[in-house]
Amino acid sequence: MRAARLFLNCLRSEGGRGAAPAQRVESLASVRTPMGLFGLLLGLIGVCLLSGGTLSQAPDACPSCSAGDYRQERERMVATQIRARGVTDPEVLQAMSRIPRHCFVPPRVRGEAYEDHPLPIGQGQTISQPYIVALMTESLNVGPGDRVLEVGTGSGYQAAVLSVLVSEVFTVEIEADLARQAAMRLACLGYRNVHVRHGDGRFGWEERAPFDAIIVTAAAPTIPPALGRQLKAGGRMCIPLGEADEIQNLTVLEKDPAGRLVAKKRVPVRFVPLRGGP
Ligand code: SAH
Repeated sequence: MRAARLFLNCLRSEGGRGAAPAQRVESLASVRTPMGLFGLLLGLIGVCLLSGGTLSQAPDACPSCSAGDYRQERERMVATQIRARGVTDPEVLQAMSRIPRHCFVPPRVRGEAYEDHPLPIGQGQTISQPYIVALMTESLNVGPGDRVLEVGTGSGYQAAVLSVLVSEVFTVEIEADLARQAAMRLACLGYRNVHVRHGDGRFGWEERAPFDAIIVTAAAPTIPPALGRQLKAGGRMCIPLGEADEIQNLTVLEKDPAGRLVAKKRVPVRFVPLRGGP
């Protein structure tokens, strides 16, 4: 584990943000890749060595972006796409103006990072439109002590937005490549309270349950039962419900004291499907 710390420090010293909460080495250790932890460590070493410590040449893992860039575009995005459409929670607006979305998208679409639409992130998947990220975040009504589960890590952007509002984010991604890249990107950028796991998020993250809030960023015809079980009483869940090729309902539910999920709000949306076997 000393080696892991060493190389994480190498990553952090180049890309970390001072204000980020404490990183846990287990967060990377918990990413289940075919190669396992050893392979991941080799990857991290490779990233540090390849870039001579600057990380700027590691294309997808450690983005060669500066968190300080695109500030004006980010402010404009918050004002015109998010606040103007009715997202009012000041903490959410602040989080959206703080997180460098351009660092979470592939370099070829970086110039579009703050535009009003989703973007491709590889493996046929997308990073959601900024407004939808803000709307879903606000709907979870989270606070500083909360522990949140995300199903569908994708680029890691939604997890980063949540990470500045809560104490810990647990996020599960079914695509091994996306999980590995998101874990490294989040570590590079200094989001130390985000834990990424490669797996089928329909089963939640049993060992870390229960959660104060659960966000599902892929469309499902019904709520996976494990997610309902892993939500605390009084907790909120936000999930696009509906068939994959159709318009879905972004549904916000709350778990009542009797353990029932009660739907509070619905908004029409279009998401990529939540995948996995029967
Ligand atoms: N929240 C992401 C975007 C999500 S796109 C972001 O901020 O970038 C939806 C993601 O869900 C995709 O990456 C897809 O691979 C993933 N996904 C689909 N089915 C899944 C499942 N059963 N478990 C975990 N992740 C899943």
